[in-house]
Amino acid sequence: MMNVEIKYYLIMAGSTSHMLRGDKLLKDKGISTSLVPAPSEYGTVCATAIKVNREDKEKSEKLLRDNNIIIEGIYPDKPRKLLGLVEKLMDSVVSPEFMTVLKKIEEGEELALEDIVMLLKTERKAEKEALFHTADRMRKEVVGDVVDIRGAIEFSNYCRKDCLYCGIRKSLDNLSRYRMSENEIMEIVYYLYDIGLKTVILQSGEDLWWTPEKISSIIQRIKKETKMNITLSIGERPREEYELYRELGANNFLLKIETTNRKLFEFIHPDDDFDHRVKCSTWLRELGYLNGSGNIIGLPGQTIEDIARDIMFFKDMGINMIGIGPFVPAKGTPLESYPQGSIDMTLKAVAVTRIVCKRVFIPATTALASLDPDGQTKALKAGANTIMLINTPPKYRYSYQIYSDKNMVDLKSAFKAVEEAKRKMPPYLKVGREEM
Ligand code: SAH
Repeated sequence: MMNVEIKYYLIMAGSTSHMLRGDKLLKDKGISTSLVPAPSEYGTVCATAIKVNREDKEKSEKLLRDNNIIIEGIYPDKPRKLLGLVEKLMDSVVSPEFMTVLKKIEEGEELALEDIVMLLKTERKAEKEALFHTADRMRKEVVGDVVDIRGAIEFSNYCRKDCLYCGIRKSLDNLSRYRMSENEIMEIVYYLYDIGLKTVILQSGEDLWWTPEKISSIIQRIKKETKMNITLSIGERPREEYELYRELGANNFLLKIETTNRKLFEFIHPDDDFDHRVKCSTWLRELGYLNGSGNIIGLPGQTIEDIARDIMFFKDMGINMIGIGPFVPAKGTPLESYPQGSIDMTLKAVAVTRIVCKRVFIPATTALASLDPDGQTKALKAGANTIMLINTPPKYRYSYQIYSDKNMVDLKSAFKAVEEAKRKMPPYLKVGREEM
């Protein structure tokens, strides 16, 4: 059966390690591959597939089999068409370039870097509306209407690093530092569990007081007592530690690249090395985490091309969760007097990321909420499908202002955003709006 429409095939391997070994093997043999989130028909949520060109399908299959890579299935990568986009626009004032790219999206073609740049640069009202509408349709197709709600606990604001933008950076002497105890953390975990949430996010500065033993202990307790999914967001750690936490049951890891512009990355992260940060992200994927990344929009000196390359990076790295937030100047930091990131550009970046990366989790970020009370609603309408509640106890919250004036993202505001965006709260949630 030869179908001219099929340009690529998706190979589903037997496990994450088979997938990664297989991908490397094919690349070493000169076959061009990429790792992509598998469509729902072919794999569990966020499973990763190896994508190969049609011409390379047979050769790849043979190579993999000869090298004992388990193949669960090979499926045609049907273009994800969004019919009717162009027709809908016929009466609007849009540029021919915009129309061409929209046509590509409609036909399920891959976008090139220039296409992404063009979409991000668009300023015309009709074009922006079409962009958000397109992202919204893609979101509906690939992840549906339910907004996933997760609970975050910022359990320590100690940090060994001095990232220029961050409101808990090491050299902020006036900041009162805290560490929650294991029992304090568990109390919040029980609350999240009681209201029915499935995922708890443990976030902190890079605080080595939290040794592998202490982190292991908290992971084990959460798993034993609630079975909730655990997302870690604790920064850079050795591979062995990531491996240990994964073995103990941590499911997801958020480690944002922040920017893929190497010079800018190094300027804003005096303690970090760009290649090492990418390496950490690669390890996380190798270890089988759902892999979170993301960027900050509107960093001083960042260009639209940089943002376009960030989006390509998310796609090429097979990232599963992508946090895109505007730069929020934080008091007392070296970047405090730089202008805040544009909400409009952040929303465009969310929309393009949804169109390019397709079946991924994109949160309506806290940073967006903190700059615009309607920010989360707008993000949900532009491709986002996740909300992270901030559940840090009030007495600590003030000290975890990674960006100043952080708006509270609580259940009440989540209900509001989900309702305004005409979306659905997750069925697992055990509290209703009336109980707020
Ligand atoms: N220490 C952990 C957690 C970082 S805090 C780590 O390194 O991964 C979570 C996110 O907050 C960061 O990844 C960054 O993208 C965002 N952030 C911090 N300060 C910010 C600011 N001033 N403006 C916008 N986003 C910021």
